[in-house]
Amino acid sequence: MTKTEPAQRRLREQVLDTGLCTGCGACVGNCPYFEHYRDAAVVLHACDLEQGRCHAHCPRTPTDLESLRGALFDLRDLTPELGALRGLYLTRASDPAVRARAQHGGTVSALTALALKEGWIDGLVQTRGQEDQQTAGTLVTDPADLAGGTGTRFVASPAVAAFNRACRGDAQRIGVVATPCQALAYAKLRTNPAPEAQAQAGKLALVIGLFCGWALSWREFSHLLGHRVGRARVLSTDIPPSRYQRMEVRTDQGTVEIPLAEVLPCVRPNCAACFDLTCEFADLSVGSARSEQGWEVDRGWNQVITRTEQGERLLDLAREKGCLEFREVPAGNLEKLKAAAVNKKRACIRRLEELSGAPGDWLYLSPDDPVLGELGHWDVK
Ligand SMILES: Cc1cc2nc3c(=O)[nH]c(=O)nc-3n(C[C@H](O)[C@H](O)[C@H](O)COP(=O)(O)OP(=O)(O)OC[C@H]3O[C@@H](n4cnc5c(N)ncnc54)[C@H](O)[C@@H]3O)c2cc1C
Repeated sequence: MTKTEPAQRRLREQVLDTGLCTGCGACVGNCPYFEHYRDAAVVLHACDLEQGRCHAHCPRTPTDLESLRGALFDLRDLTPELGALRGLYLTRASDPAVRARAQHGGTVSALTALALKEGWIDGLVQTRGQEDQQTAGTLVTDPADLAGGTGTRFVASPAVAAFNRACRGDAQRIGVVATPCQALAYAKLRTNPAPEAQAQAGKLALVIGLFCGWALSWREFSHLLGHRVGRARVLSTDIPPSRYQRMEVRTDQGTVEIPLAEVLPCVRPNCAACFDLTCEFADLSVGSARSEQGWEVDRGWNQVITRTEQGERLLDLAREKGCLEFREVPAGNLEKLKAAAVNKKRACIRRLEELSGAPGDWLYLSPDDPVLGELGHWDVK
């Protein structure tokens, strides 16, 4: 029988040494051999295990997207551009206090609070930011503590490590808020038949996904902020639609606008190798809204895609309990979202071929995948 290379060595070769690491934390928290430092996974000790969750759950090790879609979603709901799609909605939290703290409409805050209060979950892994812009995943079990983790941290978060650690605690039904790379790690966990993975998967009760264009590298972004906002305390950051070409940084001394051209060099290089704009491997996914009313109105609303029966039931419950307000989705929004999602897939394939140096070698993705095979290889617009 041929011996397989240790999982840790394969992870190093395929992901850590090739610059594909997303910093999601999937390889951290299950064993003593990995840690997350600043915004990257770091190997602390060598490990000879042939099969390891570090490699199996990493979103950038070879991934069979077709079997993940088949295992986790109703095939009748699958669309090539956006993954499973049961409905598209425009929503916001009904409570103005929630909206005031939130990034956009506060839909994620409202849904996670509802899931905790109704006992759908008994803990939620949130991402929190620190003064120096580093991020950390935190398990929250009391709805009153959710407020500390609202808003978007554009620096990549090792939140999956917090989930891995939480699995060893008292919480039995854990919800997570996840970017697309984190959600893909959870999807790989769910479909990993190894007993220790299934024990963890049994505790993963809800995945709320976030749309994501890219995330920032902590080192570059903190350097840029130091230069642009000096000693002012950063309260929140946001990126309006691309036509504005800026990042808005709200500080205790006023709002600073940073041209997007200065922010883009801080984007993690691995984000160009991501195929997923709308967080396809979630129960439901939330992003900012778009309508003809313009950004000043839209920034207070969210666009929501429901993907599973559970995601749809949570949204229905939020409507029934009055936690969310709904607005009509403008005609054309779905097609615009699909076009943006396809562009990200095509750019990803182009980047993977640049990295591999070979047409048809998509590193962690398979050119036999029916969706990417159809959409991915056309020219990027
Ligand atoms: C890196 C990043 C890039 C994004 N890019 C886009 C985009 O291109 N287009 C778009 O429409 N939307 C994007 N979003 C999503 C958007 O910023 C909002 O999170 C979303 O609209 C939900 O708004 P809300 O008011 O419901 O959030 P809130 O109610 O404020 O809740 C926000 C939730 O996000 C969690 N969170 C914050 N930062 C992170 C992180 N780094 N990783 C994981 N979870 C986190 C918080 O813990 C909280 O649970 C991005 C989000 C992130 C984290």
